[in-house]
Amino acid sequence: MTVKRAVVVVGSINMDMVAHSARLPLPGETLVGERFVMAPGGKGANQAVAAARLGAPVSFVSRVGTREHGAALLQALDAEGIHCDGVVRDPLALPGIAVIMVASAGGENAIVYVPGSNADLSVGDVEASTNALQAAAVVVAQLEVPVAAIQRAFELARSVGAVTVLNAAPALAVPPGLLMLTDWLVLNETEAMLMSGAPDERRAAELLIQRGPQQVLVTLGAAGVLLCTAAGIEHLPAQKVLAVDTVGAGDTFVGGLATGLQEGRSAVDAVRLGQAAAAIAVSRSGVQTAMPSRAELGAEFF
Ligand code: ADP
Repeated sequence: MTVKRAVVVVGSINMDMVAHSARLPLPGETLVGERFVMAPGGKGANQAVAAARLGAPVSFVSRVGTREHGAALLQALDAEGIHCDGVVRDPLALPGIAVIMVASAGGENAIVYVPGSNADLSVGDVEASTNALQAAAVVVAQLEVPVAAIQRAFELARSVGAVTVLNAAPALAVPPGLLMLTDWLVLNETEAMLMSGAPDERRAAELLIQRGPQQVLVTLGAAGVLLCTAAGIEHLPAQKVLAVDTVGAGDTFVGGLATGLQEGRSAVDAVRLGQAAAAIAVSRSGVQTAMPSRAELGAEFF
């Protein structure tokens, strides 16, 4: 079944394998850990889950190796009610895996990310999900899958009048042609300064808006968001909360923004929906487990 006016997320999915120990091991050292957690992650899947929890109809376009943890990843998407007709299953490949070590004292971490099937998402895979893309109100992508696939998805999105949102994370080079197909460019302050070469986030936003997007959003963690349009820059402060775990804040924010845009909200209201969701997520531990349902948001979002 094709979902009408959906949020379509084109992106990565992987299994996070997290081992907690008192401190990080030195090279060559074996430490006895304190606990182990395995949880679905990947920026694409995280943003799809964030939007689905907030009530948006969500389709996911991705490539999942079904060896090892692949089946569990697909089940997790299904449990969130995310439509997966656009997910290519590859029985020969491993899914993406992130092996994460976290020091209990201080929270310092070390990560090895193996992209697995995420690196194989192709233009052909995206074209095979044209049905899903044709039903899109909003198409969202990040930079953990090949840019050629994202560019094709945004071309198809533009051809059906859908809004395109590029979360330019992690900080990688973005071809000028992709920025020209982007309506909303969302990135944190580090990513914004790297992409623009500017010395501060305001100047970065001003430079990036000249490269094609109509809106540039620079997220500033607890300090909120800069919303830059042709009319100027507006600062939208974040809600004050006691932050417990800020990993995945950006993904929850983008999922909320996409939901707001799918609902036809104004730019500022869509940003506020993303901020409200992210503020709840950072007040709890975990990434997808911390993302709120719509019922947890304030009355202004009903
Ligand atoms: P990223 O995870 O991509 O680095 P940010 O840390 O900038 O992204 O967070 C994205 C958004 O999440 C922020 O703009 C803000 O609205 C919200 N957020 C992040 N950290 C906090 C915090 N400590 N308190 C309240 N909101 C937060």
